[in-house]
Amino acid sequence: MMVTASALVLGLGVAAAVSAQQAPFSIGPVTAAAGTTATGTLPVPPAGGDQGTTLPISIIHGTKPGPVLVLTAGVHGQEYSPILALQRVLASVDPKALSGTLVLVHVSNMPSYLSRTIYYSPVDGKNLNRVFPGKAEGTLSERIADVLTRLVIERATHVIDLHCGDGNESLRPYSYWITTGDPAVAEAGKQLALAFGMDHIIVDRARPLDPKASIYLSNTAVTRGKPALTIESGGMARTDEDSIARIERGVAGVMKHLKMRETGPEPVAHPLFIEPSEVITSGATGIFKAAVEAGHTVAAGTLIGRITDFHGKIVQEIVSPFAGEILYVLGTPAISKGEPIAFVGAIKP
Ligand SMILES: [Zn+2]
Repeated sequence: MMVTASALVLGLGVAAAVSAQQAPFSIGPVTAAAGTTATGTLPVPPAGGDQGTTLPISIIHGTKPGPVLVLTAGVHGQEYSPILALQRVLASVDPKALSGTLVLVHVSNMPSYLSRTIYYSPVDGKNLNRVFPGKAEGTLSERIADVLTRLVIERATHVIDLHCGDGNESLRPYSYWITTGDPAVAEAGKQLALAFGMDHIIVDRARPLDPKASIYLSNTAVTRGKPALTIESGGMARTDEDSIARIERGVAGVMKHLKMRETGPEPVAHPLFIEPSEVITSGATGIFKAAVEAGHTVAAGTLIGRITDFHGKIVQEIVSPFAGEILYVLGTPAISKGEPIAFVGAIKP
């Protein structure tokens, strides 16, 4: 900030007070002055025959400078607990008691939300969390990713992508810690995971390093040098209090860790790091019935579930590849060959 002549005349105390006030913060058409909250929408204009969409966002802009923490919900449209948690964050965070800026993307995938689809967009059939950093001239999912990358993630110092089990996934809560890329960024990502407070942290060593092919939202931040986290809390298209409150608490923990607020929950005391972990995919199309629940402990070879054909004949028995814990498992019957059935992880000694 420039020191103005009047500030010099008024003396150092006033100059310090003036420099502590932040400039307004804008994303697209939404602008928040220091110490205020602004809400609005980012347009994703029509192209290629589709109607485009809008992304509802909020900017909670603190009085004092600090980190820019981006929180995204609804990348998958039937993942409701993060969407509801962000409504609470918006209502409860006082910009006048905040250092830095919170940017909330309340529903990142509006077409999927409005059509209640799992995994894939109803418009282009793509999984939004597989097309980052997106394409300005691409399909609707690719253009949403492009807007999120350019207008939101590029402005962040830290990013947390909030998920839960999709509408068909029964899940126990956990976070993904991305270890690839710059070691300092990875270490800061680990500290975010501890501050968020989930006791199961998946050690994720398989994310791409190329910022132009980052694929995932949180990895788009990491490949641009920004610490980021993906968390999962909730599932089965439910809106249970525990899953929502866990996210709200996690955000408060991260805000305290980043010194955006003075008070907040402590980091998780006894985290369990999960490695290896494996998504088990289906070898057949048909009707799935689980034999385990999320959170169950399994041995190598434990039956996870059976797939039958449409007349009831068993066509595949799915077993755990190693001893560990069921992190998620399908809770509904529909299954196509190649789709995820369950996610198993082992606790790292
Ligand atoms: Zn998701």
